[in-house]
Amino acid sequence: MPTISFNPGPAQVYPIVAQAMQDAYQEGILSLPHRSKDFQQMVVRCRQLMQQKLRLPTNYQLLFLSSATECWEVIAQSLIGQHSSHLFNGSFGERWYTYTQSIHPESIALPFGLNDLPHSQMAAIPRETELIALTHNETSNTTCLPQSLIATLPQQYPNSLIAVDATSSMAGVQLQWQIADVWFASVQKCFGLPAGLAVMCLSPRAVERVHQLDEKGRYNSLSLLLAKIEQNQTSYTPNVLGIYLLMRVLEHIPDIGSIESQLQERAQQWYKWIDAHPSWQTLIQNPALRSTTVIGMQASPEQIEALKTHAQRQGVRLGNGYGPWKAHSIRIANFPAIPDAHFSFLRELFHSFAPAS
Ligand SMILES: *Cc1c(COP(=O)(O)O)cnc(C)c1O
Repeated sequence: MPTISFNPGPAQVYPIVAQAMQDAYQEGILSLPHRSKDFQQMVVRCRQLMQQKLRLPTNYQLLFLSSATECWEVIAQSLIGQHSSHLFNGSFGERWYTYTQSIHPESIALPFGLNDLPHSQMAAIPRETELIALTHNETSNTTCLPQSLIATLPQQYPNSLIAVDATSSMAGVQLQWQIADVWFASVQKCFGLPAGLAVMCLSPRAVERVHQLDEKGRYNSLSLLLAKIEQNQTSYTPNVLGIYLLMRVLEHIPDIGSIESQLQERAQQWYKWIDAHPSWQTLIQNPALRSTTVIGMQASPEQIEALKTHAQRQGVRLGNGYGPWKAHSIRIANFPAIPDAHFSFLRELFHSFAPAS
């Protein structure tokens, strides 16, 4: 079993998770009823910590779900009547579109290229679209959409909700919460937690839309989840341990500003090193689109295979390439739970690696 993981999800967890899991057992969290005062206080604490540490605006609602995939489906059910527009350049954005389309056949896809900013796709969004779906950090191909670009959408489409999948960036970089109405992430990426929990943040406008559409009847209908969260509860027995661990990690981490600076510095160093290297290349050529939190490298499939074997021997797990980029790329998670020392070790690993050329 590798002891060091650079897999971009499920990713390396914060070391504090070990102690927090012990504490959860000792403190009876594992059998804590989800209608109890103690549970409700935990929900309140998570909300306060999201506001303090991640600077979530106080007028945004915080909901708990089970995965980012569930968030895609819930958005389709409860925030779209007929029509959404999906801008994507990779596998996660495309899957969000596919799931939505099976509920709303009129929803449309506006795909864009790996090294392109989606200016023309943004201009092509139909005026009447109810929701614009974007993936902030496309984990599959290591691109990141500049938030300054997303920020131009609300003026152009004042009647549409903006929904952003921030699964591999929330808790890693500072999100400009106000530019979108729906943000969500599962916690096994930048939050440095085990899988099985997701958070969804809703603007007042999004909450209003939920009430207008008033879709109910499903266990995870947003109208139901919102009614319950008013009492700091959930509609079904949630991942109580996951929520507890989220609270503990949020207590432990510094402000998102300092997390972001650390990650940016590490990413810049790494990209600089790859750019100067004779036999490795960055997966994404356009620096404006390179992700801070997931770094993509490419080489020949033989070289990739040899590197992975070399890494495994030293107890290091790298992220495989994904989808069409599977054979000729690797992904390196630059998540906050990964200490600088692991990156130094990884650098050594590359130095000791001599590909057969
Ligand atoms: C990992 C990931 C998902 C899927 O998350 P699940 O928790 O497995 O549903 C969705 N979107 C992005 C951008 C991701 O990185």
